Amino acid sequence: MKMTHLEMLEKRYNLDRDQKIQLDKERKGKIGEYYLKSLIETKLHPEIAVISDYRFEVNGSECQIDFLILLNQSCIIIEVKSYYGDFEIRPDGFYRLNPLRKIKHPFSQVERAEIMLHSHLKRLNLNLNIKYYVAFVNEQFSLYGLTRDMPVVMASQLNRFLESLNEEVYDKKHEYIINRLEDGRLLKSRYEHELKLDFNKAKKGLVCQHCSGWLEVDTYKQLKCQSCGTKEEIESAIGRSITELETLFPDDEITLRRLLEWIDHTYSPSKLRRLLKKICHTHGSKKGRYYTLKSNIITVSNI
Ligand SMILES: [Zn+2]
Repeated sequence: MKMTHLEMLEKRYNLDRDQKIQLDKERKGKIGEYYLKSLIETKLHPEIAVISDYRFEVNGSECQIDFLILLNQSCIIIEVKSYYGDFEIRPDGFYRLNPLRKIKHPFSQVERAEIMLHSHLKRLNLNLNIKYYVAFVNEQFSLYGLTRDMPVVMASQLNRFLESLNEEVYDKKHEYIINRLEDGRLLKSRYEHELKLDFNKAKKGLVCQHCSGWLEVDTYKQLKCQSCGTKEEIESAIGRSITELETLFPDDEITLRRLLEWIDHTYSPSKLRRLLKKICHTHGSKKGRYYTLKSNIITVSNI
């Protein structure tokens, strides 16, 4: 089981109410995207190229597209929404019902994406028509005021929608287009690290990968979770802690001192140094020595 960025944050920090709401929203969004991704993988013809979480910039403004499906002469933007409950489209906007609350119109978001993608494709010298849809992936979602002309795919229509895309015969090699698009991808969002994290305020220790409990030394080579009893090799637990540090504090170098503090001095400096030699690349001279994890021993999933 992989640990997500959000889980790392939740375990290490006492988040305030707004941060919790924001994280909850993000998590639901990710679950929706993951769900659609698995549908796409099973329903869509493997020849059809799909780019997910595509981020790009036009004139200094950033745009993110959940899924971009490439067909022969066109591409389809899919914006995923995991809303739960009853909603209504009214002439003056998009509303959540019970209690009534006006929320950001999902159509305007996807329309903006279409306009921006249009400029982006033009700049990349790619000639594709653009269609767009908002996919409401939650079965427990109802939308009043919906008409057939609206760019919406409801959960009950998703399978048929994807299958209908298979009907086109694919004769285009998309490699060129994909390469161009990938070259134009914005790798790091400017908004990604909005939550300013204070290293000193984080809860320190080694976190269990199964239940997010705290690990304690069990034997010379093993740790044991205080909550669920799962045992883990020291190496993998330390490797995961390094990944956590790299993810939460991407701008800071990982020094022995910092890592010792992060794992709440579970191990002695000499033992940790020996371990780091094994699983990390060492950089810098003695005084400014810092470490980066050797291979992707542990990867952070985006889900
Ligand atoms: Zn555990």
